Amino acid sequence: MKLKLLQSDITAIKVDAIVNAANTSLLGGGGVDGAIHRKGGYEILEACRKIRATQGKCNPGEAVITTAGNLPAKYVIHTVGPVWNQGGKDKEELLANCYMNSLRLAQENAVKTIAFPNISTGIYKFPKELAAKIAIETVNDFKSDEIEEVIFVCFDKENYNLYDKLLRTWKI
Ligand code: ADP
Repeated sequence: MKLKLLQSDITAIKVDAIVNAANTSLLGGGGVDGAIHRKGGYEILEACRKIRATQGKCNPGEAVITTAGNLPAKYVIHTVGPVWNQGGKDKEELLANCYMNSLRLAQENAVKTIAFPNISTGIYKFPKELAAKIAIETVNDFKSDEIEEVIFVCFDKENYNLYDKLLRTWKI
């Protein structure tokens, strides 16, 4: 599995699957979630509604997969990050679960290339450096023969610089 870093808008990336930092409703929201639904169109929302109707809400740490509608990707994997609030080990575990469950779902759907945003570091206020450490560590520990490339897509320069530093110092 090759790890890559980009500063970009994730809705523009042509990979098998992009990951969405969704909320428990799965019905869209602000930040990256809003951008994905806006550009991906109605098909994504319809698919999310169907999932809601059959399995209910999506809990923090869990992931579901839908079409990517009008986006260049094939699939969107929606995962719900934890809200930081007071923080704690349970929040760290839930964030790691987001990356792990998204990769599992990717693998089950023969996804070879996948792009992640910086889950929970926007509206959900997870500290960026801790979130970057958890993201890189979890992805790096995930062993897969099927997934070929994982791209960390940072929207802001601060996250990009944090990832860049960690990937260099850990020599990943
Ligand atoms: P959360 O509620 O999980 O914090 P947000 O969407 O508010 O989700 O933020 C998660 C991260 O996604 C933030 O680092 C934010 O800068 C980033 N982000 C926002 N829009 C985009 C986009 N179009 N592409 C990639 N990342 C984005």
